[in-house]
Amino acid sequence: MAMSINADDCTTCGACECECPSKAIRMKGGVYVIDPQKCTECEGVAAAPQCDDVCPSGAIAKAA
Ligand code: SF4
Ligand code: SF4
Repeated sequence: MAMSINADDCTTCGACECECPSKAIRMKGGVYVIDPQKCTECEGVAAAPQCDDVCPSGAIAKAA
């Protein structure tokens, strides 16, 4: 499983990118995206997805 960013809600503040322990978040074509191959949902590293914790706009949720 992985988290994903809803581009409609994301303000491209960049706060999530540096919080990711898996380096799964990057800017691509003007929007932030999460690489589902790299995202571990922070399992074993933190109690909750760190990107979701820091996102001020609630743009991050579990990928469908
Ligand atoms: S859930 Fe964790 S591993 Fe996945 S993108 Fe967010 S910070 Fe990175
Ligand atoms: S923290 Fe939230 S609003 Fe900021 S870039 Fe990441 S997903 Fe977008």
